[in-house]
Amino acid sequence: MKSWPVLGLSVLLLVPAVPSAARPPDAAEKAPLSDRVVRYDIRVKLDPASKRLEGRELLSWRNTSLADVSTLPFHLYLNAFKNNRTTFMRESGGSHRGFERDPSDWGWVDVKSIRAADGTDLFPFRRFIRPDDGNPDDETVMEVALPKPVPAGGTVELEVAFEAKLPRVFARSGHADDFFMVGQWFPKIGVLKDGAWNCHQYHADSEFFADFGSFRVEITVPAAYVVGATGPRTASRTNDDGTMTYTHVQDDVHDFAWTACPDFVEFRERFVLDAPPVSTEMIFLVHRSHLGQKERYFRALRQGLEFYSRSYGAYPYETVTLVDPAPGASGAGGMEYPTLFTADTWSFLPSGIRLPELVTIHEFGHGYWYGMVASNEFEEAWLDEGITTYSEVKAMDHYYGPDRSMFDLPGLKIGDLTYHRLGVIGSGRFDPVLRRSWDFVSGGSYALNVYSKAGLALLTLEKILGEEVMARVMRTYFERWKFRHPTSEDFFRTAEEASGRDLRWFFDQAFRSPDKLDYAVSSLSTEETAAPQGRLGGEAGPAAAAGTKAPAEFRSEVVVWRAGEWVFPQEVEVVFADGTKVRENWDGGERWRKFVYVKPAKVLSAAVDPDFKYLLDINWANNSKRLDPPKAARRKYTLGLAGWVQHLLSLFQF
Ligand SMILES: [Zn+2]
Repeated sequence: MKSWPVLGLSVLLLVPAVPSAARPPDAAEKAPLSDRVVRYDIRVKLDPASKRLEGRELLSWRNTSLADVSTLPFHLYLNAFKNNRTTFMRESGGSHRGFERDPSDWGWVDVKSIRAADGTDLFPFRRFIRPDDGNPDDETVMEVALPKPVPAGGTVELEVAFEAKLPRVFARSGHADDFFMVGQWFPKIGVLKDGAWNCHQYHADSEFFADFGSFRVEITVPAAYVVGATGPRTASRTNDDGTMTYTHVQDDVHDFAWTACPDFVEFRERFVLDAPPVSTEMIFLVHRSHLGQKERYFRALRQGLEFYSRSYGAYPYETVTLVDPAPGASGAGGMEYPTLFTADTWSFLPSGIRLPELVTIHEFGHGYWYGMVASNEFEEAWLDEGITTYSEVKAMDHYYGPDRSMFDLPGLKIGDLTYHRLGVIGSGRFDPVLRRSWDFVSGGSYALNVYSKAGLALLTLEKILGEEVMARVMRTYFERWKFRHPTSEDFFRTAEEASGRDLRWFFDQAFRSPDKLDYAVSSLSTEETAAPQGRLGGEAGPAAAAGTKAPAEFRSEVVVWRAGEWVFPQEVEVVFADGTKVRENWDGGERWRKFVYVKPAKVLSAAVDPDFKYLLDINWANNSKRLDPPKAARRKYTLGLAGWVQHLLSLFQF
């Protein structure tokens, strides 16, 4: 096999051991996992008092297209927080996932100089562009015109000096007093894809997209600060002015984030797995007020590493860092960056509320579906969030039990799957899953579609294909598209190929249609047929004698109804009073289908999708009907709290 662990291992074996003094750790070369389009060498200094960063970045970018390139666009994400008229602020109204901005604390990044490698001053040739909405107050994308184009296959090197101010954190990046989460902070070049630049503005409901490459970042902070960052630390030094400088280096990632806080307590633990072979250092930066929760993080990250490595492929990086945001910095929580993610917890959180576990397993999962399989989160967010949700539900159910993986409290047990089913019901009929992030009707519609609906679509696909085939689909997708930029179409094609099935009907509905899946048993009836009367038994048959006693016979009718718009093939199970069962197949296409039975026994019940395969069905309460329900059999009204909540929510669909 030519998967990376085998490659990585063979390279290590071939390279003779070199004393570390002779060979600095950050010079150790491994076989590249990605095509390394970019190389960043950044020096950055944090001034905690003014919440400012001063940075200098050396960027090398390679033109992998077949044409000359004469402009370079850069993301300046922190400018989303520059004023109340940026695209991010206009779209979000200054709140993000329920966290509000501090109206007096802005954030920005100012580019101070841009020079080409030959010293040419490119600063005068920069301008802000607004490719998505033309908003003149948005400065989240800067374009630099080059005096000489970069030829196909050529490389350009630039030196960019910048100063940034971090906002009080409410949306991923920023500070909360002396806690700093520094993400999306440096001028980052866009992605040249199919001959065109892909460099969107920072939107309220969108994440990120960038090319793979190599990062080397020197971070200078006051000595009292504990620092965490993407990739392993390769050097640290004490400076005369009471600061420390830490160097972190990582290849084959597409972003770099770091964090600093004097109140982090750092824990390190090696995670080792035999099959597939994994050896990585888990680094936990736990805020000292949350130390009582640390074992929960440790266990969940071990579970994530084990589950993902076994299910999709070995975790390839030397480190994974879990950042626990300070109290009051939850706006920074639940966010992924390459080899580093932020979790979240509270000092006193009952163990039956599995929030730290859920967020750890979810965000670590992004290390695969965003970190390595780097789809475009601006344009097709479900490829990251939906696949991560699918994996999260599987991992949570595996480790914590499907009926209680989210809440496991006395009298309240809810699984992660049920939680996401509520999301599907609430996702409305406005948007398909597959849509540019900022084109959804609302933030709620974005979230419910790209997370819950997409996740449940994949779990439904698993029920259709079977677990084994679905596992093959996911492995094939990961193996084929890791360290690349796949699209939805790439996923769909991979799934069809790996399963050997035509799945267009499924993908066209579940991902491209805003409509819903809902099938119901609309009516159920049974009637004893009258005793024979009139002429029976053909031409020569005798007239039935009045009062003839015949064995009882019942005519039963079952009408199943396509209450939603989507057409999914259905199984219908009909149960008779004598205990016999019939399974019918229906292609689900017409609005309704009637099944008629003449039998010695009454019909007792009928159910459409009796095995609850279709997790996307928005109402399971109407899936079955029963005649004269005996008391003990009122099962469908004993779904428990989850079913009740679902029923309640179904009344408020829009
Ligand atoms: Zn996510």
